[in-house]
Amino acid sequence: MDLTGFPRTSLGHLPTPLERMDRLRAALGPDCPTLLVKRDDCTGLASGGNKTRKLEFLMGEAVEKGAGAIVTFGAVQSNHARQTAAAAAKLGLPCDLILIEMVPLDSAAYRGSGNVLYDLLLGARVHLVKDDRRASEAFQAVADAHAKAGRGVYVVPIGGSNAVGSLGYIDAFDEIERQTEAMGISVDAIVFGSSSGGTQAGLIAGATLADSATRIMGVNVYKKHGADIASAVHALALETLHHVGVPLLDVSKRVHVIDGYQGEGYGLPSDAMREAVTLTAQTEGLLLDPVYSGKAMAALIGHVRRAKFTRDQTVVFLHTGGTAALPAYVDAFR
Ligand SMILES: *Cc1c(COP(=O)(O)O)cnc(C)c1O
Repeated sequence: MDLTGFPRTSLGHLPTPLERMDRLRAALGPDCPTLLVKRDDCTGLASGGNKTRKLEFLMGEAVEKGAGAIVTFGAVQSNHARQTAAAAAKLGLPCDLILIEMVPLDSAAYRGSGNVLYDLLLGARVHLVKDDRRASEAFQAVADAHAKAGRGVYVVPIGGSNAVGSLGYIDAFDEIERQTEAMGISVDAIVFGSSSGGTQAGLIAGATLADSATRIMGVNVYKKHGADIASAVHALALETLHHVGVPLLDVSKRVHVIDGYQGEGYGLPSDAMREAVTLTAQTEGLLLDPVYSGKAMAALIGHVRRAKFTRDQTVVFLHTGGTAALPAYVDAFR
């Protein structure tokens, strides 16, 4: 889909590489499908990740609207917040990050290293708050201060997930198609971690527009029930298609959410995540993160072991980034 009509700022190193994972495949046994990894951890924006593609369109809109300041929300170790801080710095805009203590971890490493360190280095003002109510209060105070100073605030939604941000993953879907076509292969499934849903919604919109049979499989790493992710993704995919002027398509059969790999909850380490992170590191020299890509890889491994894929299929693991958070989780790997 041609997205040149939408405001956009160049932030990422695109296209990202698409690489084979033959040693991981061998480690998973003779029935493992062909495995590729789409390196969206290499988008380049202050250590990269999937929010960079969304921010190209979100920041494009912010610039077009003449924004004088950027505000966004996230968990304490939010990769989204860190990439937003980096994008704002690159555009010369002040950035406020309202970080909510939604993960029950409070080690010095969790609160001060990883993404939090990067946020501060990138010049963002970090507001740590206990819950959603206090986040609204903090937002109000920040918005009032900017208004007083005559600056228009552009609010990036949590995870950058709205119809504008999801354009980035329509683009990513096309990029994967171009790359696999050049390699002479067709992709049966794309697997990745899903939370605020914009990545999955954009990929579904992209697959719908391309009339592709590729299954877009988001792994629930965020909500108690996968059904909550599925309904949010479904709604956002429709909104995204509406935004690009192609409404009224049925996407209900395209929403696949893999459940059962979030462990004890969002941001909390699990044994399957630890196995996936160490196996991928030691077979491919590739780092995953504990919150998203580690649990998504655990789901992919679980699917291979339960023979939910066949050896003649090709599966793309979309590496959404997040390795900046690894130092915050040093206790989880001791
Ligand atoms: C935000 C994030 C995701 C989830 O993407 P959504 O579009 O919010 O569903 C996955 N992986 C990483 C590393 C992330 O930071």
